Amino acid sequence: MELPRTPWTSWRPEPWLGVTGAWRLAGLALVVVLIAAVGVLVYYTGGTSTAYLNLILIPVILSAALFGWRGGLLFGLLAGLVLGPFMPIDTATGEPQPLLNWVTRATIYVVLGGFTGWLFTRLNHHARQLLERARSNPVTGLPNRQALEGQLHQRIRGAEASNAPAVRIFVVGLQLDNYQDTIGALGLGAEQPLLCGVARRLEAVGERLGAQVYHLHDDQFTLMLADSSQRENLAATRQAVECLQTPFDVEGIPVYLGAHAGVASFPFHEQDDPERLLTKAWMATREAGQAGRRYRTYNRRRGESSRLAMERLGELQQAMDQGQLHLHYQPKIDVHEGTLLGAEGLLRWQHPRYGAIAPGEFIPQAERTGLIDPLTRHVLELALNDLSTLWAEGLRVHMSINVSARNFLDPTFVDHILATVDAAGIAPGALELEFTETALMDDPEEVIGALQRLANTGIELSIDDFGTGYSSMTYLQRLPVSALKIDQSFVRQMLERSVDAQIVRASIGLAADLGLQSIAEGVEDAATLARLRELGCDVAQGFGIARPMPLDQLRHWARDHQGATA
Ligand code: C2E
Ligand code: MG
Ligand code: MG
Repeated sequence: MELPRTPWTSWRPEPWLGVTGAWRLAGLALVVVLIAAVGVLVYYTGGTSTAYLNLILIPVILSAALFGWRGGLLFGLLAGLVLGPFMPIDTATGEPQPLLNWVTRATIYVVLGGFTGWLFTRLNHHARQLLERARSNPVTGLPNRQALEGQLHQRIRGAEASNAPAVRIFVVGLQLDNYQDTIGALGLGAEQPLLCGVARRLEAVGERLGAQVYHLHDDQFTLMLADSSQRENLAATRQAVECLQTPFDVEGIPVYLGAHAGVASFPFHEQDDPERLLTKAWMATREAGQAGRRYRTYNRRRGESSRLAMERLGELQQAMDQGQLHLHYQPKIDVHEGTLLGAEGLLRWQHPRYGAIAPGEFIPQAERTGLIDPLTRHVLELALNDLSTLWAEGLRVHMSINVSARNFLDPTFVDHILATVDAAGIAPGALELEFTETALMDDPEEVIGALQRLANTGIELSIDDFGTGYSSMTYLQRLPVSALKIDQSFVRQMLERSVDAQIVRASIGLAADLGLQSIAEGVEDAATLARLRELGCDVAQGFGIARPMPLDQLRHWARDHQGATA
């Protein structure tokens, strides 16, 4: 299949590859002057018997380089004639050259000029092809990121030089939604027809609205609008996204791709740097994807916070190694007796530069990467250490930690927990693992198997944030859990909002029917606790009882609230 050509690949040749315009005329004049000068030099230094004759090769080769084989032939002939019939062998005697002599020399010049000209043309052609390949995407033939950055560089320079504040350059990052899944299902053979189809639709939009289209990589395209207005940019962004909403035909199969976009602009979002401008457009694109939007404009505050989150993620391993992470414990009490039953370990990061960082600011990122595995192991170690200390002091509480859905995808996870609990010498029943229903989404059977192994050893399991996930009753009755933790979003305002109260009541009833303990989290005052007692809830946890606290404070809190299981 022939690659589609695009008008935007028309870049200017590099200076050494060919000269244009005034430089071409100057080159022509230079060649003529040099040939004439060598003629004069040869004549005045004694004629064609001198070595100066060979200097004529310089303008002949120069003409071949500048004007190709035609130029080489023409100026080779001219050089042969200048040193030909009218140039004597010896100027002093005026002896003429034999015919064969100058005709042979002229023929050599013509052949040499023509051949070197042809060689230069070939080299030129190859160099152009190489450059073109380096600046275009091999699948679609659209200009690639190098070409885009080069264009941006020129445009930004131009805008700065013109000193016109109204000149605005927009960069629109465009990511296909369904590309990876499609290639996964249809195979790599679908790549070219699909991407070429996308390229052609985007080119059509680009031509209509004055935008240049670039293909950066696989499912990433970019539009650039120079000297454009916000309104024009918006129209182009919308149309670019919309033109990809109708299915593509790949070998008779209708394939839906869809796309989302992110916009950054110069000089609004970035002062001087093409790479950073492009980065910002792609940050906005990623945000649009995460938020499920069609497009987003770059926002400096959001951009900086995602950069910070990224930096933090990079520092997390070091934070574990250097002991910057520790657990705070939030007591859980028996709703009816008011006695301490246990505590939930909640992770805290004391960053040397940023101070305390809440778990919500780094755990979701760690969950998206493999870092959640070492993190959970670290938390388990901290919790078991503290639990051993408390038990050694006679404070025989339960301790729960939070386990992420992704942890269950680690095939060594269960073995590791069992080995660590065993090594700590703790009764497995003193440890509780809290997980959310999202853990079941990827591979419910495998996760249920893992939970079963944990439960068989006596480790307690509870479903966290109950009511916010997808609660499948089929799975709920098969899960070897011992408690449902009703999400705080229902508990906090259950006295004011009757819908929340109904959900809490129903959840308590469901837990009781399934033979599970009900735990209400987010209990912020005594009235809520009293209401939970009336509803028959078993366990409560919340700011109204105690906030998460360091281990030392938990000890004091436990002593002040007598009745911990001894
Ligand atoms: P979670 O497991 O549902 O933990 C309860 C969160 O609610 C805690 O926030 C706690 O401080 C807060 N909370 C407790 N009582 C109240 C209350 O009465 N009112 C209000 N407004 N909030 C209350 P925190 O410590 O910021 O933790 C947030 C989430 O971060 C946790 O939700 C859990 O999903 C996650 N997390 C915390 N530590 C870990 C950990 O070690 N590993 C994993 N995987 N996740 C953790
Ligand atoms: Mg929890
Ligand atoms: Mg929770």
